[in-house]
Amino acid sequence: MNRRTFLKAGVGTAAVLGIGGGVMHHLNMVDAKGRILIIGGGAAGCSFAARLMRRLSNPDITLIDPADRQYYQPGFTFIAAGIFKPDEVWKPMSKCIPSGVKWIKDSVIELDPVKQTARTAGGQMVEYDFLVLTPGLQINWDKVEGISRETLGQGNAHCIYDFMGAQRIWPAIQELVAKGGRGVFTDTYTKHKCGGAPKKICMLTEHLARKEGKRDGVQLDYFCSEKALYDVPLYTPRLLQIYEERNIGLEVRHRVKGIDTLAKKVYLEHYEKVKETQTDAQGNETEVEREIVTPRVEDYDLLSFVPPQSAPDFVRNAGLSWTEGKLAKDGWAMVDKKTLVHLAYPNIVCLGDVAGIPTSKTSSAIRIQLPIAVDNLLSIMQGKEPTKEYNGYACCPIVTDYGHVLLCEFDYDKNPDITFPFTLQDMSKEQASAWMLKKHFLKPMFFYGMLNGLM
Ligand SMILES: Cc1cc2nc3c(=O)[nH]c(=O)nc-3n(C[C@H](O)[C@H](O)[C@H](O)COP(=O)(O)OP(=O)(O)OC[C@H]3O[C@@H](n4cnc5c(N)ncnc54)[C@H](O)[C@@H]3O)c2cc1C
Repeated sequence: MNRRTFLKAGVGTAAVLGIGGGVMHHLNMVDAKGRILIIGGGAAGCSFAARLMRRLSNPDITLIDPADRQYYQPGFTFIAAGIFKPDEVWKPMSKCIPSGVKWIKDSVIELDPVKQTARTAGGQMVEYDFLVLTPGLQINWDKVEGISRETLGQGNAHCIYDFMGAQRIWPAIQELVAKGGRGVFTDTYTKHKCGGAPKKICMLTEHLARKEGKRDGVQLDYFCSEKALYDVPLYTPRLLQIYEERNIGLEVRHRVKGIDTLAKKVYLEHYEKVKETQTDAQGNETEVEREIVTPRVEDYDLLSFVPPQSAPDFVRNAGLSWTEGKLAKDGWAMVDKKTLVHLAYPNIVCLGDVAGIPTSKTSSAIRIQLPIAVDNLLSIMQGKEPTKEYNGYACCPIVTDYGHVLLCEFDYDKNPDITFPFTLQDMSKEQASAWMLKKHFLKPMFFYGMLNGLM
């Protein structure tokens, strides 16, 4: 679907159906002034810039991002499963940044939120009045021993969180299906982009093996780092049922520590949390939690793994991260989960993967965050209180096979928040209609709708 077709059919259809949620209707222009700096021009930053350009009568927007390309990252799973071709999921960054926005093609290495300056790797110092913090997240490849981003694919160990990685695993999956063997699939113990992605590629591999009449020769095991495969009550039972029905082994509480690519072995840690009573010298008893860790090694023929992820280093170094609570360890930015305004610096709004909010890191969540964060920034620029509130909406289209998607839509409280239009369908089960949405509509919605500030 090209831009023209999409704009004719896509936005209209999505708007009518309500899929967009944040479809942009005609809104009043705002005459607020101030230098706006956007750090990171991915799904969140570029779309934010486009929306701002449509709202401000005298925009002064600078965007810093070193990337040549804008990727539709949800497409990586489809590349890995042979559904999309690699060139279908990216566009040159130069074509995505809205005209009128000053683009500095560089990386921010230092940010001073007190002086309101950002310094780039190339030595440029940029001053701002208002900051939009959208640099996404950092994939910490070095936290998995024995492999790096550059050596992905070695020893048949793969990662679909990388554009090249997604391309390398597809022939490997086909070979596993053809020759037989053991596929081991894992995720990671930090918050990560699209928690559904590692599960999807596992189920797609299983379905491919069945379609090819080769299922008996393929053993599939999923090692989950959490204590449960999924934790959204409406959808978890069906997902667990699918894993059971299809005879995919499931183990929980396992963290990947390293890979021996020569021997094709993955080193895991099984962890269990136990409560114990400690008694001090005075005889006072306190209950403490202790982690029992048991190492475990598994042989594989094909491995799909996910490295730990965190906020980019410069965010933490700038003192913008949570300092306590679950979101502190990996440096996620300390923003108000409703207004998306930074809790220490009211001239900073923050959305997307870097935001320290308790929801899934997905572009569908960003689509709903966008109008809220934009409106709140405009209010702040006019000296008003930010009043728009985000409910934590995220959508994870869990592809269960080549033809069905379990479309998980939920809010901060893990309550279902279904925007999908065909509500006569039972959305706690996988649906062919949701597959059609995922395969044909979401990518054009991203490139032509979201990035143009239209939804
Ligand atoms: C395999 C996979 C499957 C996924 N599946 C889905 C799905 O099915 N549905 C869904 O909704 N989402 C999915 N996602 C998640 C989705 O792609 C992300 O949540 C989304 O892209 C995050 O947007 P962002 O703008 O926060 O970060 P990004 O889109 O990653 O953009 C960050 C930008 O910041 C720039 N940047 C980084 N550091 C700096 C710096 N120091 N200075 C300046 N610029 C910087 C980068 O170059 C980049 O352009 C998936 C992701 C992956 C990897």
